Formats: sequence, C-alpha cells, structure tokens
Amino acid sequence: MNISDSAYIREFLINKGLKESNSIKETDIIIVNTCSVRRSAEERLEGRLSYYTSLKKEKDVKIFVIGCYAQKEQENIRKKYPNIDFIIGTRNISKIQEIIDDIESYENKIFTSLEKEYIEPAKDPSNPFRAFITIIKGCNNYCSYCIVPYTRGPEYSINSRKIIEDIKRLVDNGVKEVFLLGQNVNSYGIDSGDIRLHILLEKINNIKGIERIRFLTSHPKDFSYELIEAVTKLEKVVKQVHLPLQSGSDKVLKLMNRKYSLKHYLDIIEKLRKNMSSISITTDILVGFPGEDEEDFIKTYNAVKEIEFDKAFMFMYSPREGTKSYELKETVTLEEKKERLIKIINIQNEITVKRLKRFIGKKMTAFVENYSKKNNGVLASTYYGIPAIIDKNIKKGEIVDIKIKSISGHTLIAE
Ligand code: SAH
Ligand code: SF4
Repeated sequence: MNISDSAYIREFLINKGLKESNSIKETDIIIVNTCSVRRSAEERLEGRLSYYTSLKKEKDVKIFVIGCYAQKEQENIRKKYPNIDFIIGTRNISKIQEIIDDIESYENKIFTSLEKEYIEPAKDPSNPFRAFITIIKGCNNYCSYCIVPYTRGPEYSINSRKIIEDIKRLVDNGVKEVFLLGQNVNSYGIDSGDIRLHILLEKINNIKGIERIRFLTSHPKDFSYELIEAVTKLEKVVKQVHLPLQSGSDKVLKLMNRKYSLKHYLDIIEKLRKNMSSISITTDILVGFPGEDEEDFIKTYNAVKEIEFDKAFMFMYSPREGTKSYELKETVTLEEKKERLIKIINIQNEITVKRLKRFIGKKMTAFVENYSKKNNGVLASTYYGIPAIIDKNIKKGEIVDIKIKSISGHTLIAE
C-alpha cells in the first residue's frame, strides 16, 4: 500500500514538471512515507527524521512526513521535530498536489482527517507496464495486535465502474499488469453493495490489453469458494494467493481476533490445491503474541511444516499502543521470540527451496520486469508470482514463455 501511495505521489510530481533527485543533500523537497506496523519501522524512521531535519541547517529543504506514522504521531512529530513542514495522514495524500503549488505560503501544515479519499492509480516506478490499483481502503477487522485500522481508518470500497474505467485508461497508456490492493480485498464491495472480488476479477479478466492480474491481501475468514474458482480458472489471474495464517494455534488466533480456526484455514488450502495443485501460496506468520506458550508455537511450526508455503513473511510480535493486545501482559521474552522466529525462518527456508524445485523442467509464462546487472539477465515474475531470472536480455513489459532450468537461492533460473 505504501509503495502504491509513493508511486502516486511520484507520478503527479513528475507530471507537474518536478524531477526525482538522486541525492538527499541536493533535493529541495523530501517526502517520507511511513509505516507503523512494528515499532522497529518507527525507530528507523525517527533516526532518519533527525538526519533530514538537520539538513535544514545547510539549505531550505521542505520536509513532508506522510502515511501511518504521520496519522498516528502528529503531536509527537510536531513536538520532536518542530521544523518538519507538513504532516499528512493516510487519507490526505492528494493534498500534496495543492501544497506543492503554493509551498512557501501554505498555511495549514497538518492534514489527518479520515474522510474518504480517492487517488488515481499509479504505475509502478520500477515497471511502467504494471499499475497498482487500490480497490478497498482502510480496515474493519481489528486484529488485536494491529495498528492499521486506527491509522488507515474504516474500510471503504472504490466503485467498481471507476476501477474498470481507470484500468482501461491505464491499458491505453501501456499497462499490462494490475496489482489490486487492500488490507482485506476479500471484503471488497460489502460496504458499498458493489460486486464482490470474484466478479471484479472476472470483469478485469475481460479487459482487452490486460494480461495479468494480481491481488493482495486476503483474509482467511472471508476467502470464498467463488474466489477459489476465480483465482484458479481465470487465465489472467496470477496463480498465487497470499493468505496470512499468523498462528497455527486456535487459542492464539482467538486472542488475535482473527475469527477463523486452523481447520478452516486448512480447508481453504485443500480446496485451492484441489482446484490447482501447482498454485503458489504465501503467508504471514507472527510469533511471540502474548499468551503464546511453547505448545502454541509448536502448533504454528507444525502448521508451517504441514502446509508447505511457497514463501512466508515472518515477524516477532511488537506491541502497538492503542491496540487491544497492548493491554495484554507480554508473556514471551525477547530471547524466546527471537528463538521462535529463527526456528520458523529455518524450516520455511527449507520448504521454500523444496517447493521451488517442483518447477524445474516446467514451462510457464513470465512477465519481464527489469534488467538485472547482478545476474546478467532479466528479472521476471512468473505465472506463479515467483521471481525468475532469464538468461537473455528481453525488453521490460514483455510476457514470454520460459522453461525453468534450476534454482538459485529463492529465485528460479530460466531460459
Ligand atoms: N492487511 C494485511 C497486512 C497487515 S500488516 C493482512 O491482514 O495481512 C502485514 C503483517 O504484519 C501482518 O499480516 C502481521 O503478520 C504483521 N503485523 C501486524 N501487526 C503486527 C505487530 N503488532 N507486530 C508484529 N507484526 C505485526
Ligand atoms: Fe491489520 Fe488484521 Fe486489518 Fe490486516 S486484517 S490490516 S492484520 S487489522
């Protein structure tokens, strides 16, 4: 979501005639897009803000802090860094357009209203044949550990006709792949009575010129059978589902307010794989939640081992003030959290490699993203959402037939 918001800002500033700078010391405007999901992201950011504001001693640089941290910490930012110029929350991104035109005399410095905002979808700066389309904003799920519903506000879906119009316009501008985004794309359309995600996918699948469709993130409590059918049957939808499990223990899932059981999760995986055995499934795992004992952790470990994800993003629990679980007493020490995280990472690394091996010798299509100097070839994204290096220099944006020769680390090597 942050990459998408940054891409939007970048695109309109460039359209206004501004230039992207390669050097923080030479630039006139710094826009820092921020994350608050874990405390570690905020700590890194605070270090950067101290450095950026120190640059003001040397030249008149305007600094914007935008996104989740700006939304949540407006008061602290003002106190700690009084010379930050603009603080812009998650639903005020389009304000930057207005400010830029009048930057020296713009009076209002803080925008953190949670009114609904629509921003134009933007192309991916690293691949202009791909665009990010936010289809649903905010989140209503209130997982007990998560700050997102507070920083991004309540859920609302973007009108499906608007999405289709935007995509058609993007196709006219060369886009071939769309990345549909939302904190929980499975609840798309519920708030507004619009069509549901599987129908939206079908409509996008029918747009001439669109060759690939991807989407993030799904929530196991709302992953419908119709969606399983759509993902596995619609030919333009990339055969990858990102479905965060978080924990393999029903007790912990309940404390997390995730509203599903391990059994429900396993049923979805079984149905997905029954419809398409080669489908790629990725997940998020969170270890060290308050109350997670050794037995609960083993349940997560065993679930990861049994399910065999293609890839997992794995995190240690970080208490976030304002969330429900912040009130719970932390029962897992930092040492234990680290130990559990390493165990999960190690087993998942083995599984990722094992899963990749199933592709060796297989033919599939891949969407060429970028030239990779390091690998002396091109980086492409396969039909299963997994990256591949192709040993030839092919133009960005091409969709090519490849054959997987081997694997290197977590990447496929193809010809
Ligand atoms: N809406 C998406 C993304 C949420 S943030 C989803 O539901 O998956 C991405 C991941 O960060 C989450 O899946 C979770 O694993 C992790 N995360 C969220 N809050 C966290 C916290 N307080 N500490 C550690 N990890 C957290
Ligand atoms: Fe956070 Fe849960 Fe919403 Fe994802 S679904 S953004 S984890 S509250």
